[in-house]
Amino acid sequence: MILNTFDVNHNQQQVCILGSTGSIGVSTLDVIRQNPQFSVFALTAGKNDTLMLAQCIEFKPDFAVMHDEQSAGRLKSALHSHNSETKVFSSTSAMCDLVKAHEVDIVMSAIVGAAGLLPTLAAVEAGKKVLLANKESLVMSGQLFIDKVKKHGATLLPIDSEHNAIFQCLPRKMQKSGHNGNLLEQGISKILLTGSGGPFLKRDVNTLSSVTVDEAVAHPNWSMGRKISVDSATMMNKGLEFIEAKWLFNASVDDIEVVIHPQSIIHSMVQYRDGSVLAQMGNPDMRTPIAHALAYPSRIDSGVKPLDFTSVADFSFTAPDLSRYPNLKLAMDACRLGQAATTVINAANEVAVSAFLSNKVGFTDIYKINAQVLNKMPSAQAITLDDILDVDKNARIYAFEIINKEFA
Ligand code: NAD
Ligand code: MG
Repeated sequence: MILNTFDVNHNQQQVCILGSTGSIGVSTLDVIRQNPQFSVFALTAGKNDTLMLAQCIEFKPDFAVMHDEQSAGRLKSALHSHNSETKVFSSTSAMCDLVKAHEVDIVMSAIVGAAGLLPTLAAVEAGKKVLLANKESLVMSGQLFIDKVKKHGATLLPIDSEHNAIFQCLPRKMQKSGHNGNLLEQGISKILLTGSGGPFLKRDVNTLSSVTVDEAVAHPNWSMGRKISVDSATMMNKGLEFIEAKWLFNASVDDIEVVIHPQSIIHSMVQYRDGSVLAQMGNPDMRTPIAHALAYPSRIDSGVKPLDFTSVADFSFTAPDLSRYPNLKLAMDACRLGQAATTVINAANEVAVSAFLSNKVGFTDIYKINAQVLNKMPSAQAITLDDILDVDKNARIYAFEIINKEFA
């Protein structure tokens, strides 16, 4: 794809948003709306051309890319009738081309699932400032992803609220050396990864098999896309975040501890060898980590209401009950097993969650499918990108086979 140079105010930072029509994408645009030092160079999305049209009309990006060809066609003709100059493309490779454009300063990686891997890696390979919401891409490619960050001098900033919180609680030296850093040398004894426990923290475990989709996606504190909402209910989300933390902070599995904090006010903590614990707090609203990462190391407005301590209920903390959340244990086991296992668990979980969301399997079947796929495939090699894509594909095939055989 040939990129034209448009009239650009060079004081502005140009942003490309992968997944602009999703929960994180919409929040990112809201932060940009309040901060004119950022402008939108390109927006990309899956199928929602209606919302993409509205975003293009408001933010006037140079480019818009849909994954789906029909949606791109509809978007193109609608934009034409609005006399918009935004150019429209479709396909993942168009997304990969766009993030590499020299005009792009910042890439927000907010596609859901493995579909985000290639465009995110393209942004890393182009040495961009990459804001990582798409945890699945790091979980599935781990070492390869981090090696590329180092090799191409990309700046990787975490958007996941927990990892953004941890990042904020690290010494500046560790923030800079991040994925190369040494927690012990920085005096850090533990990363405390908090999680709310989701909507079923107190529900009778014996009734979990009858959980409906509506119940599973109704998170008590956060408003998010459907896949991550289900992951939060099973706590697979915390498992994926455990793996994500390992890579982002060069941590070993023993450096990370999951703590249940149902109020979601503390977003995670870092414990130091002298007994100090630094926590990052705020109202649960993703615009805070997005604003933090967009402007880092400066601070900008996010639109999030300041935390009112006088109206905050008690803070409570417990250890996770792994019999209630077997997916969390599975992901932590996969993290110990190594790269192929984490690629497998991510792929199996995407298939299982999608089957749950379309009412093909029950809520507790998500774990059964994930565990079976992981048990069958932990020993494959996952070093190169081809290996990883292969392991991902085979895990999906096996997950589909299980669903068709056992749940059809
Ligand atoms: P979402 O479902 O609301 O949005 C997903 C976005 O990806 C949409 O724009 C969709 O069109 C796009 N998309 C889907 N399939 C695509 C494909 N094949 N090609 C291109 N684009 C595609 O999801 P979300 O809640 O915004 O989450 C996005 C990512 O951020 C996930 O990886 C999630 O784990 C992570 N995250 C989200 C939150 C949150 O609060 N929502 C918090 C932390 C991390
Ligand atoms: Mg999170």
